Amino acid sequence: VAVRAGFRLCFSAALVFGLALPVPGAFALDLDLPTALRELKADLRWDPLSLTGTLAIGRHQVVFRAYDEQTSSLAVIDGREVLREPGPYLSAGGLLFPPAFISALGAALQNMPGAAGGDFRIAAVIVDPGHGGKDSGAVGTHVIDGKKITLKEKDITLQVALDLHARLVAAYPDKRVLLTRKADTFPRLEDRVEVANSVPLNEKEAIVFISIHANASFNKSARGYEVWYLSPEYRRTVIDRKDYSESEEVFPILNAMMEEEYTTESIMMARAIMTRFDQAIGARSPSRGIKAEEWFVVRNARMPSVLVELGFITNPEDARLLADQEYLRNLSEALYKGTVDFVATFERSGGFTTDR
Ligand SMILES: [Zn+2]
Repeated sequence: VAVRAGFRLCFSAALVFGLALPVPGAFALDLDLPTALRELKADLRWDPLSLTGTLAIGRHQVVFRAYDEQTSSLAVIDGREVLREPGPYLSAGGLLFPPAFISALGAALQNMPGAAGGDFRIAAVIVDPGHGGKDSGAVGTHVIDGKKITLKEKDITLQVALDLHARLVAAYPDKRVLLTRKADTFPRLEDRVEVANSVPLNEKEAIVFISIHANASFNKSARGYEVWYLSPEYRRTVIDRKDYSESEEVFPILNAMMEEEYTTESIMMARAIMTRFDQAIGARSPSRGIKAEEWFVVRNARMPSVLVELGFITNPEDARLLADQEYLRNLSEALYKGTVDFVATFERSGGFTTDR
């Protein structure tokens, strides 16, 4: 935890001089909302009508009601433990947090079962643009605005992947963000998986793997986007789907990945991405939903993995969208937001499948 020097100083002074209660003149010690949330590693949900706040800290929920600095309120942790230290209060329209409340809350959480360890993290994000080089993936030729255009899946996946990669690199200076290919090359399947396996992990770290594809079907009217999470069940589903165009490519990836344990996180991540896809492109292309959504309880997940199908290259409406640079940026932005949502939730919860 990076404790700011200023805070440390004030905090120590508060302890030394016994300023446990907010008294007039002591307000300068109290923390503003952003600082308090940073210290607590918390997210706040605030209901302005009831003046009630809910802090999400790790897997804990802390509910408090804020009045003014003269009226102290109690905070309740996980609906059972009451914290008697005077809590956050409203001052000049903003929430202020007494340092004594923050330290008492931290101490209380430490002593609770399933205390927020908080040090589970995503160490790396791997972006996998499907196909490449001699393998074009799905190909479709359409007349778009009077021009005959041939779309190749390998180009679309690379463009979306490069943009996603750049956004993630900027967002996560402390994580490794890797691409399985950077250009129109053909990494073998083993190479793609090898990239993932090359990242050293300690036991509290995980990798996220995002494979990007576009769909094809003999049925020209089939269209829309899909998010697959990669579960053991997926292999069977793919093989059973006779019209699935990509079993040859996808099967070995899945096979290699099945040696990992990952499924619960993969489902959470698929949902996060699907939510962002719905927001970004749902009005223009239909959602075909999350696939393989059986729930498996798997321990020690190390590699939450999803595969997205951006749309159907074989469908005229989808092809028109996929030929549009702005639309591809919408897709990579949605993928980026979904990934960030997932990573934030994962790291805040200390890894979903632990202690389950
Ligand atoms: Zn593909």
